[in-house]
Amino acid sequence: MSAFSIAFYFTPMKHAIQFDNLEKSFGSLPVLQGISGYVDAGEVLSIIGSSGCGKSTLLRCLNRLETVDRGKIVISDLEISKPQLSSRELKEVRSRIGMVFQQFNLFPHLSVLENLTLAPQQVLKISRSESKERAKYYLQEVGLADKAEMYPEQLSGGQRQRVAIARSLCMEPQIMLFDEPTSALDPELVGEVLAVMRRLAEEGMTMVVVTHEIQFARDVANRVMFLDQGRVVEEGLAREVLTNPNSDRLHTFLSRMR
Ligand code: ADP
Ligand code: MG
Repeated sequence: MSAFSIAFYFTPMKHAIQFDNLEKSFGSLPVLQGISGYVDAGEVLSIIGSSGCGKSTLLRCLNRLETVDRGKIVISDLEISKPQLSSRELKEVRSRIGMVFQQFNLFPHLSVLENLTLAPQQVLKISRSESKERAKYYLQEVGLADKAEMYPEQLSGGQRQRVAIARSLCMEPQIMLFDEPTSALDPELVGEVLAVMRRLAEEGMTMVVVTHEIQFARDVANRVMFLDQGRVVEEGLAREVLTNPNSDRLHTFLSRMR
C-alpha cells in the first residue's frame, strides 16, 4: 500500500453536515433534546414530524440563525456550533448554506432580477454584470427566464417560491435547506416547486428538506428523519421508512397525512 492509499484508507469520509447530540431550549421549553444525524454530499435528507416538534429550529441551527445550547454541528470541516464564530466564519456559513422558507421573503420593492443580484453583489462582491448573468442562469433553471423584470406581487405563489430558490442558488451554496417550501401554496402550485426541487436533487445538490409532502420525500429523499418532541424517533432510507414505519408514532403520523 502506498502512503497515499493508506492515508486515503484511514481518513473517514467527511459528511457534508454532521450534527451530534443537539440540545436547544427556548426558556424552559426543551425543543431539541439530543438530536444527531448527518447529510452526505449529493444526498437529500427529509425531516418530517408534527407541528412544533422542532423541525424549523433544527434547520435554523444548521445555518446558525439559532445557536444550540449543547452539541456539535460541523459543515464539511467548519464547526459552526462554537459559541463564537468570527465574522469570516459566519460569512462562510452564510455562503455555503442556502435556505428557502415557507414565506418566500422576497423584497417587494425590487424586481425579480434585483432580488437575485443583491446578495451576490453585496456579500460575494461579484460584479454587476456577472451577478446578472448568474441571475439569468438560475432563473432559467427554475423555469422563469421571462420574469426577470417582474415584481414579486405580479407573480403567483409558486413562481415566487421558485424565484426564492433561484435567489438562494445565485449564492452558489454547497447545501440547500428548505423549510416547508410548499406549505403556504395553493395546492395547484405545489407541483411546480417540487419539480424544481426534484431537479436540483437530481443535479446532485446536497439538500435538507422539511416537508409534509410524504410522496415527495419517499421519491426524492435518500434518507428521512422523523422527529417527535425534539427527538429522532425513526431514521433511515426514505423509501423503506415511509413505506414500512417501525414505530407506532410514525405509523400514526403517516396515516394522518393521507
Ligand atoms: P416545527 O418547525 O417542527 O413546527 P419549531 O422548531 O418551529 O417546530 O418549534 C418547536 C417549538 O419551539 C414550538 O413549541 C415553538 O413554539 C417553539 N419555538 C420556536 N421558536 C421559538 C422562539 N424563537 N422562541 C420561543 N419558542 C420558540
Ligand atoms: Mg416549522
